[in-house]
Amino acid sequence: MSIRVPRPVVSGIVRAVVAPILSPRVPVPAQRRLLDLAGRTVPAPPGVRRTTEPLGGVPAVRFVAPGAAGPHVVLFLHGGGYVTGSPGSHGSLAGHLSRATGAPVHLLHYRRAPEHPYPAAVDDAHAAYRALRAAGHPAQRIAVVGDSAGGGVALALLLRLRAAGEDLPATVGLISPWLDLDLTGPAVAANAHRDAMLDPRWLADSARAYRAGAPADTPELTPLHADLAGLPPLHVIAGARELLVSDSDALVDRARAAGVPVTYRRAPRMWHDYPIFAGLLAEADAAVAELGAALRRDCAARRPRVAVVGAGFGGIGMGIALREAGYRDAADLTILDRADGVGGVWRDNTYPGAACDVPSHLYSFSFAPGHEWSRRFAPQPDILRYLRRVATEGGLDGHLRLGTEVTEARYDAPTATWRLSTAGGETVEADVLVSACGQLSRPATPALPGLDRFDGPVFHSARWDHDVDLTGKRVAVIGTGASAVQFVPAIADRVGAVTVFQRSAPYLIPKPDRRYRAWHHALFRRVPAWRNAARVGWAAFFEVGALGLTTVQTAAVPFRYAFEGLLRRQVPDAALREKLRPDYPIGCKRLLISSEYLRALARPHVDVVTDPIAEVTANGVRTSDGVEHPADVIIFGTGFATNDFLAPMKVFGPDGQELSEQWRDGARAYLGITVPEFPNLFLLYGPNTNVGSGSVVHMLESQIHYVREAVHRLSAGARSLTVRSEAASAFDSEMQRRLSESVWTGCSSWYRTASGRIVNNWPGLMREYRKRTSRFDPADYHVEPLPAR
Ligand code: NAP
Repeated sequence: MSIRVPRPVVSGIVRAVVAPILSPRVPVPAQRRLLDLAGRTVPAPPGVRRTTEPLGGVPAVRFVAPGAAGPHVVLFLHGGGYVTGSPGSHGSLAGHLSRATGAPVHLLHYRRAPEHPYPAAVDDAHAAYRALRAAGHPAQRIAVVGDSAGGGVALALLLRLRAAGEDLPATVGLISPWLDLDLTGPAVAANAHRDAMLDPRWLADSARAYRAGAPADTPELTPLHADLAGLPPLHVIAGARELLVSDSDALVDRARAAGVPVTYRRAPRMWHDYPIFAGLLAEADAAVAELGAALRRDCAARRPRVAVVGAGFGGIGMGIALREAGYRDAADLTILDRADGVGGVWRDNTYPGAACDVPSHLYSFSFAPGHEWSRRFAPQPDILRYLRRVATEGGLDGHLRLGTEVTEARYDAPTATWRLSTAGGETVEADVLVSACGQLSRPATPALPGLDRFDGPVFHSARWDHDVDLTGKRVAVIGTGASAVQFVPAIADRVGAVTVFQRSAPYLIPKPDRRYRAWHHALFRRVPAWRNAARVGWAAFFEVGALGLTTVQTAAVPFRYAFEGLLRRQVPDAALREKLRPDYPIGCKRLLISSEYLRALARPHVDVVTDPIAEVTANGVRTSDGVEHPADVIIFGTGFATNDFLAPMKVFGPDGQELSEQWRDGARAYLGITVPEFPNLFLLYGPNTNVGSGSVVHMLESQIHYVREAVHRLSAGARSLTVRSEAASAFDSEMQRRLSESVWTGCSSWYRTASGRIVNNWPGLMREYRKRTSRFDPADYHVEPLPAR
């Protein structure tokens, strides 16, 4: 039978027993011992199991009330002014929390001041949180609770996780959190004699000990001033009579203003940290029960079902990020692709010589270094092998639905559901639709007059027909972009003749390629810093290139010299050199990297034709000057339909409006990711996210992080997220203004629509994009709450 003691009696005991312990006159070791003793007198719920289980090298005790099996867990950061408090003083509360949340509670015995000032406590909390994650607890199933100083540690932990780009816990409980070490809140004076527990002088001493030499504006020490947007739901409890109630008041106001879901129990007549008396005091029991229910609800929050369309770099990266966030069931995460394998463009483009023109250390996921690279600029088979391995190791095999083309996606507002129709007549339902279709997935073949008359094989480079034997054949190549400059030198040796039909000459620079041998791979494996340095170094190189395309165009001058040098060295014939010199600013079309292409064009059996194509005949290609250029095979290297993004998939919003209608004047999206009026739709490698110089995989990782945060926000209690049109139009105006100053306005290219709008490219550095997508800010969105349960 449990006994409840009336509030005035407990308050009297606190004044008589606890308050004198928390006094500057009592030496810290005595405070610790006495508080431990006092804590043990508060009854824990019956049957709680207690086991010592360090977390991440930090001492901790795990409390499990009968039947509290989770699957969620609680990381509990105890109070005690950073100088005292322990599993002894807070064990009873940990037991009550376990019962109320239905989950194991890990009470962390973090290092305390004065021996271990800031940041020791936050470091320990971070290590413990990571250990829980490493033990297989998804962030969406972790609740963090802190009382008093533990509340400060909890909030500092959130800021640290956010800064490190790590997944935040599902929910946070803060009991009388101490957030203002300077004690500037009005309640410090107003409640000086009303708080049964706290003495401001003890708080000031403790703050000094904890802060030690840290600068006054250290964000983790001043969480009240931090940007709170994007934090998980906060459940705050405070006593109206406590010294620190102003901290809770201010936190609740600021968090709400930042769009964070908050519940606040501001209990009249109660003192600091009163829930610690759960088991003795009815008010404390009620507060802990309510907190436990809220934390349990948040941890069991629905996991929005996500459908990802496309299983290339984007879809694979998104899938892995969601798996890491706890997605395990095939029904919750489906990745659809029309092809029968993963890899996207790296599966489709099998033309001879296909390789990446960005070094693979940069053109790969930061979280999954590749050991497949046979060269610095990996050939296509290496990249495809890499993607297949990463997808399998990332646990995606069970989530893939291959050979499934999505033809249409419709949002059903009443149920907040995306309904996808497939070419095979199936319907797939999801709460969130992520398009990972890429910008370069649909080959564009010009409808040249007479093409159907041609007698020989015709194919596009992205659908290479390996059954056609080119040996000794006369090959007409139409197009001189990134694909053609790779396959022309790769086929030149075996064909009888090549005629390259050039509409615009490309700029090229030499390719600093190299073969990677076993010792390179051993080095990359054993000295990850080496590999990381290569990644950072190449990123810096491409960022300089990006400046040359956008704001500091003189940075592109060295590339022009490099092109002229290459042309002079590899093309001895002056007339041919003239043909191969572009008539537009460098970088306006993609700057190409090849040490082989110009050399191949200079060979005697290779001809470059610049007269426009008039028609295709049965035996070749006739140009506007009337000359018929004989050919046995025509290969189109004419690029892709890059401006319509999700097409041919039709996407309909809540009112039946079609996305392509909204994009009639050119595709646009907030951060290239979200579109007004289309709830819970996220685009990867969407409008204005292509880089003229850089790695698209780097950009994708930024988008994936952002989408994962949005999904997390939905899990934490939102039904839908729709970007505000003001945010989207301001972003779009900024893009177009900045792009109008870029080099890309100086010619036509796949970056622009017929009307000249640049819809593909990002006008800044990858770094800027990473920063702008580092945090999902709900203020940019209409957040439709989940209906009350
Ligand atoms: P692209 O850069 O768009 O080049 C298409 C070429 O076809 C251009 O030379 C274009 O001439 C020409 N063309 C288009 N329509 C034509 C027509 N009707 N008549 C005559 N010529 C015509 O396509 P891509 O080479 O396939 O490359 C596209 C993008 O894919 C690249 O920029 C790159 O981002 C990516 N890619 C990357 C790699 C790699 O990493 N190694 C390899 C291949 C592709 P105009 O310039 O006059 O329009």
